[in-house]
Amino acid sequence: MNIILLGPPGAGKGTQARFLVDERGMVQLSTGDMLREAKDSGTEMGKKVADVMARGELVTDEIVIGLIREKLEAGGGNGFIFDGFPRTLKQADALGDLLAEIGQKLDRVIELRVDDAALVARITARSTCGTCGEVYNDLTKPIPADGKCSNCGGTTFKRRADDNEESLKTRLLEYYKQTSPLVGYYYVKGVYGRVDGLGEMDAVKAEIADVLG
Ligand code: ADP
Ligand code: ZN
Repeated sequence: MNIILLGPPGAGKGTQARFLVDERGMVQLSTGDMLREAKDSGTEMGKKVADVMARGELVTDEIVIGLIREKLEAGGGNGFIFDGFPRTLKQADALGDLLAEIGQKLDRVIELRVDDAALVARITARSTCGTCGEVYNDLTKPIPADGKCSNCGGTTFKRRADDNEESLKTRLLEYYKQTSPLVGYYYVKGVYGRVDGLGEMDAVKAEIADVLG
């Protein structure tokens, strides 16, 4: 099964994708993570996208489609979870073509609905484990008092360079301008479903399980 998790920054796509990886053996393809890796390892492409990302603007379609193409060619266990991709109609068309090329299709698109005020609060409180990527939130899921990641025991935690109010505003605008039309696009294709992303993590997880069946 191949699915897209759709939703604005901070909607909880990454958190829910991790559940699906752990419980269903699916493969998470996060273009945001791939781009951050390219940036951290200092590749030419990474250097090119660093400023764009820090401002909260979108990287070119060509770059992200290229990243996804490579991963699809490498194959993936019990299906792919697309997280943060596609973000434009052009990327959505390209994904359809790429899946068709490997004899697969998109089974479901799940939109995580969260109101904008909640997004800002979530994102400015967010940090992740530097070792395993477990997501923490000062308000709802603080880093354990002993300073050790509950998932892997790691002791370093980081905040993203673009998790500040200024670039968050740009990321939200980009979402509404370029990505939200995908709701209609996938509705017409008959694969669209939505869940309330505002609830507790486990409640959201259960709703997603319902949609996926
Ligand atoms: P967010 O929390 O904003 O959803 P992501 O980790 O998915 O963050 O993406 C971080 C940044 O990486 C985006 O703001 C954008 O600059 C770039 N990016 C990620 N995925 C894409 C994509 N599919 N198309 C264009 N740019 C992307
Ligand atoms: Zn960890």
